[in-house]
Amino acid sequence: MAIERTFSMIKPDATRRNLTGAITAMLEEAGLRVVASKRVWMSRREAEGFYAVHKERPFFDELCEFMSSGPTVVQVLEGENAIAKNREVMGATNPADAADGTIRKVHARSIGENSVHGSDAPATAAQEIKYWFSDIEVVG
Ligand code: ATP
Ligand code: MG
Repeated sequence: MAIERTFSMIKPDATRRNLTGAITAMLEEAGLRVVASKRVWMSRREAEGFYAVHKERPFFDELCEFMSSGPTVVQVLEGENAIAKNREVMGATNPADAADGTIRKVHARSIGENSVHGSDAPATAAQEIKYWFSDIEVVG
């Protein structure tokens, strides 16, 4: 399996509860390496741009409101099969459905305030990394 990069966010519900380190440790324990990281308080407009793919979904406004409600930690993760590996350690979107030991099972509050984001495919990973980071900010 090839070394991949994926994009991850620690969402405002988690930064508010001081879980940046705890969540990053779970990612690292899963074999993922943080090759870029910064804390951002995204604007409503930046949230809408990032989640543009969801703009017709009924939860779009709630999602953008939440994502601009406090600081987020945006990261690039690197490792073998990193996209699928990250999705696995994150767990299901709704924490009620997430497997034991996953980040969302352990830390998420609800389907909306679900602590982390992770890219779902190579094309979205590349696009999402580019949205938040310049090439020289990613140091593998
Ligand atoms: P993410 O894209 O954040 O990694 P995901 O791929 O598991 O999560 P998506 O279907 O892409 O889930 O939804 C994007 C985000 O929108 C979810 O992580 C969640 O925060 C929010 N969301 C999804 N469904 C709902 C819902 N029914 N009500 C409120 N918020 C929702
Ligand atoms: Mg998604």
